[in-house]
Amino acid sequence: MLEKIVIANRGEIALRILRACRELGIRTVAVHSTVDRELKHVRLADETVCIGPPAAADSYLNMPAIISAAEVTDAVAIHPGYGFLSENADFAERVEQSGFIFIGPRPDTIRLMGDKVSAIRAMKEAGVPCVPGSDGPLGDNGQEILRIARDIGYPVIIKAAGGGGGRGMRVVHGEAALLTTLDLTRSEANAAFGNSTVYMEKYLDHPRHVEIQVLADTHGHAIHLGERDCSMQRRHQKVIEEAPAPGVGADQRRRIGQLCIEACQRIGYRGAGTFEFLYQDGEFYFIEMNTRVQVEHPVTELITGVDIVKEQLRIAAGEPLSYRQDQIRIHGHALECRLNAEDPDTFVPSPGTITQYHSPGGPGVRVDSHLYNGYRVPPNYDSMVGKLIAHGETRAAAIARMRNALAELVIEGIKTNAPLHRRILNDARFIAGGTDIHYLERQLLKVH
Ligand code: ADP
Repeated sequence: MLEKIVIANRGEIALRILRACRELGIRTVAVHSTVDRELKHVRLADETVCIGPPAAADSYLNMPAIISAAEVTDAVAIHPGYGFLSENADFAERVEQSGFIFIGPRPDTIRLMGDKVSAIRAMKEAGVPCVPGSDGPLGDNGQEILRIARDIGYPVIIKAAGGGGGRGMRVVHGEAALLTTLDLTRSEANAAFGNSTVYMEKYLDHPRHVEIQVLADTHGHAIHLGERDCSMQRRHQKVIEEAPAPGVGADQRRRIGQLCIEACQRIGYRGAGTFEFLYQDGEFYFIEMNTRVQVEHPVTELITGVDIVKEQLRIAAGEPLSYRQDQIRIHGHALECRLNAEDPDTFVPSPGTITQYHSPGGPGVRVDSHLYNGYRVPPNYDSMVGKLIAHGETRAAAIARMRNALAELVIEGIKTNAPLHRRILNDARFIAGGTDIHYLERQLLKVH
């Protein structure tokens, strides 16, 4: 097993990684910014290294500082968590060139999947179903582009190859707006991602977001852990996730999961990863792959019993996967509510000191959060302060447990989106299951 690793992240995921390390007997180095000295995992880590000032660009995105921290502490590997440098191929490459293990896929895989055009091409070749689209980047010939859009059929969506975080895409409803929108998306993509390559897809008007979790080791074995439904979104940001996805049956799960496994083997995938699909009228359409652990991984852990972070660590140590596909069983249903430090109505971030914190409990309830009484949520980072996760024999049982958990939860001193979660958990359409990605914004938030 790995002897000592650097946790190159903060907040709940850093704590989650630390807990997995403790179970496996791996020593931990917490690297942190100057405002993060009081983070829970920093207090619990075996060693700590301050890597810079609050601004993420100078700390959690500071590659030389993170690699130096590994050097001075004699760590053997770096876990990037999610966000920050987790999908940065240059970072993964520098980590490996400096003689450390990057806990994630090979740098060339991150690069391949980080460009959506090359990712879609690779997935098509592997037989994974994709959204009907331009089959590669759009060129400069206006007539040709108009023809492509006509063939696909309006509405279409123009997307930046280098886009991420829900940015760099625009929907076009008819021919009149196509070329000007294309130019706009191109120049925005160039400014935001340093890459002006754009492509076109059919715009699906009522899709759900359904994704497949995979694990692949360095011995050629890959498995899938079923799907998650992350359709409850605001501004392309996931708010609630669940597993399994309502309405996806065992046969369909097996088929799409098998395609993902084959794609992993074909590209030599290593570690944990997620194939993201839009799911409409019973069909899966690949949109992108995330080459890291995801925020919503706990719902999969609760229904399969597989500890995804421990598997990441084992894979990085060169061990084979702990499970074969035929050992993976799905038990019951799990939901996750992302808790954000924000106003539940205006969504304005609400940093500050936690004056009162009480975490819920009971059967089937898991809380992944770094909060504690007296902790000060800094204004410098993402507003997510934790995740409530509930598991039950059925979806209805999981919902009932989540309602209890939300009722028990006390966070004072800052505002959180817990009231929004309470509303969603009591919404008839959510309770029925299977709402699309527009439901939260177009209906639930409108009628409030
Ligand atoms: P990002 O990397 O920014 O997350 P994605 O390609 O994963 O970008 O798309 C993010 C979201 O944008 C999707 O979850 C979906 O809500 C919407 N979206 C993307 N492509 C399409 C499409 N072809 N049709 C409809 N919605 C889409």
